[in-house]
Amino acid sequence: MDPSEYDLAYFHREGFQRRMCTECGSAFWTLGDHTRCQEAPCASYAFIGQPGFRRPYTPHEAREAYLGYFERHGHTRVRRYPTVARWRNDVFFTQASIYDFQPWVTSGAIPPPANPLTISQPCLRFIDIDEVGVSGRHFTEFEMMAHHAFNRPDHEVYFKDRCVELCQGVLVGEFGADARGITYKEETWEGGGNLGPSLSVGLAGLELGTLVFMEYVRDPTGIRPMPLTVVDTGYGLERFVWMSHGTKSAYEPVFGAAYEELRQTLAARDAAIVIDHARTLSFMLTDGIVPSNSKEGYFARLLIRRALRVLSKVPEAPDLISVIERVAREIAREYPEIGAHRDDRDRLLTAEIERYSEALERARPILQRQEERLAASGGRVTEENLVEWYDSLGVPPEVAVSLISNPPKVPDDFYSKVATRHEQETPTGDYVEPSASLPEVSANVPPTEVLYYLDPYTLAFDAHVLWTEGAFVVLDRTYFYPTGGGQVHDTGHLSELGVTDVHRKGPWVLHRLDAPSPFHAGDRVHGKIDRARRIQLMQHHTATHLLNGALRETLGPHVWQAGAYKGTEAARIDITHYRPLSRDELRRVERRVNEIVREDRPVKSYFESRNEAERRFGFTLYQGGAVPGKELRIVDIGDFDVEACGGTHCTHTSEVGAIALLGVERIQDGIVRLTYASGERALDIRDEHEEVLREAARRLHVPLEKIPDGIDRLLSEVEASRRAEKGRRGDDLRAVADRLSTDPGNSETAGRRTIVHARIDLDRNELMELSRLLTRLPGRVALLASEREDKGTLFVGSSDPTVAADALLRLALPAFEGRGGGNRSAATAVGEPGAPLEAALEAARRGARDA
Ligand SMILES: [Zn+2]
Ligand SMILES: [Zn+2]
Repeated sequence: MDPSEYDLAYFHREGFQRRMCTECGSAFWTLGDHTRCQEAPCASYAFIGQPGFRRPYTPHEAREAYLGYFERHGHTRVRRYPTVARWRNDVFFTQASIYDFQPWVTSGAIPPPANPLTISQPCLRFIDIDEVGVSGRHFTEFEMMAHHAFNRPDHEVYFKDRCVELCQGVLVGEFGADARGITYKEETWEGGGNLGPSLSVGLAGLELGTLVFMEYVRDPTGIRPMPLTVVDTGYGLERFVWMSHGTKSAYEPVFGAAYEELRQTLAARDAAIVIDHARTLSFMLTDGIVPSNSKEGYFARLLIRRALRVLSKVPEAPDLISVIERVAREIAREYPEIGAHRDDRDRLLTAEIERYSEALERARPILQRQEERLAASGGRVTEENLVEWYDSLGVPPEVAVSLISNPPKVPDDFYSKVATRHEQETPTGDYVEPSASLPEVSANVPPTEVLYYLDPYTLAFDAHVLWTEGAFVVLDRTYFYPTGGGQVHDTGHLSELGVTDVHRKGPWVLHRLDAPSPFHAGDRVHGKIDRARRIQLMQHHTATHLLNGALRETLGPHVWQAGAYKGTEAARIDITHYRPLSRDELRRVERRVNEIVREDRPVKSYFESRNEAERRFGFTLYQGGAVPGKELRIVDIGDFDVEACGGTHCTHTSEVGAIALLGVERIQDGIVRLTYASGERALDIRDEHEEVLREAARRLHVPLEKIPDGIDRLLSEVEASRRAEKGRRGDDLRAVADRLSTDPGNSETAGRRTIVHARIDLDRNELMELSRLLTRLPGRVALLASEREDKGTLFVGSSDPTVAADALLRLALPAFEGRGGGNRSAATAVGEPGAPLEAALEAARRGARDA
């Protein structure tokens, strides 16, 4: 950056000097006589034992002091956004206050909720997770206090001068910092294609905040000014509290009494890890994360397992749920929603903790076997194995090393490594149809006016053709719904031609005809939508909203829609939940949605500005994932369910008809899929099911309600006849055994040994049984050959300790050209059809005689 970027009138007016840090060489501005910038590592922590603020602040006091200062200086206070960034599809978590306003506000698409504004935003970052408890200042959840201003060319709020003046004002005027102790170090900030100068604010060796001025865009042609410039500041609440206390680490003053209580049983580092993770989990679980082995759920599981592992080291340590509740109670004073979710959170944690102990039980033998296998091939367990075991089996490395005999060292940055790997995954969303190859529409074609938003029941309309190519047609206006938002497209006709597929592409709706388009630009066409299909899709789609509401109501607020598909035959919704639903839960959910259907509630659809919608309904709006645009289309079923959604819906719940749940399955860890049908399809499917039951009742000769009894009766009859059959066969085989043993053609004596040999065509089980009967007395050898189902079988049994069955079999194998094996008392081999059974039998017989 050009030095002039930092050469502010404010600095000159107030008498700041620009200096070069003798340690890092950076330029910085100060009123004092520092020769180094006041940040680690250039300066040491001078505030330890000597607080840099006028008095000690609790987190609540520091937050209020900060926000209050900016309110008194023209800023509007904005409530926190969720720590899970549902309004974005590029990140899982809110990592800075500016994330709240990206991309819609920073791109200029929508106005900010207030301008200028101040906020204290809880942020989640897992990159330094291994530093928690070690550095004395790292947290996985921290609050970023900020003041933001968004400047348009026609409306400048404030920029660099005023920003630095406010920063100096809050530090000196509000918190009582020594004006001469503060340094503003010149830096460059760059992110997401934007860049600009920034000033890092240091005091007594600690960086308290950063002032970023988003001013330029970098694109292939170079760097150019942004039309909208943004003041993006960030101050660490925890650092303010620490600065005001001057304690050895930030954990004591930030976590207060809850930390002290943990310190009674845990070492300082472990206490910090547990309480930090507990606080982060309070936010994550309230903001709608279900622990799992992938995506955002992965991080919740990581924190839970790491905290459990630390707590398990000390028998007297409290259990994780009570630590989380203790911390959540504190936070709830600031953020009441964290208290409101308590029961839901406890149930979820209990299930997750059980799952962990099961995982450890399962893992123990697996780990030991893998170590043996590695050792057998001259290798040993490595760091890579630890990562793999953590990811696939859920075993923390500290536990893994205690389960094996020759463990590697656990790397210090283990958890940062696994966290980084998982940040690469992409957030979940709706069913997306694999994109068919769509033609390019000329850029000068005006956008299609989409009318299905306005009235889902208009199914015939007139329009003009704007563009056509091959079988594709773009109209000036359409009621045809294109595939999107998990809902499949409409079908119908454009004049005489069938419409088989409808897609959205940029600002256009493309209709695909069942034949090459005969139309020309300017032609007037009559559109007609397939009524039955559209109504069925609307019913399935509306049913999805109703189920989403009923599932949240029944299972708890952790339920989010993770994906959805609305077809004509059936629909499905994937939800975040920690176990499959019980029969009883399914019944309750089904009753509840049908109750809402009968209540005939209005389903309102309307457009509303993003800010207003978020303010009125909160972020549960984004059930289908992030939605683009400055206006959101809201589908509002009163206090039951409100979502941002672009699909076609019934206008009253009664139009859904009925909803039948058809199935439930756990499709992946933490995600449960429900399949259902509504309207006509629900009745059809129930009819089909009933027809099957009637047919079953007819065949069983019982009334419908007696089918289970009828099946029980049938099963016991089957079982009885199976037993009788087995007894009969046993009797038969016994008779055969007696006959063979006494017939000289099948029986010979060699010394004290009796050899019974026979060519007898039986199945494998019968051969085994016959051999067992023949060798019941000691000193017997049975040699049986059978040809059945296109294969030859040789069976050898022996009750003579001097004759091994498997050895005899081996003697016979060359003649038999078969394969097999066994042990001393029984052995069997199978050969190709037409195998020389007699020769094999003869070879075995010779062997038995000579043994
Ligand atoms: Zn420096
Ligand atoms: Zn919808």
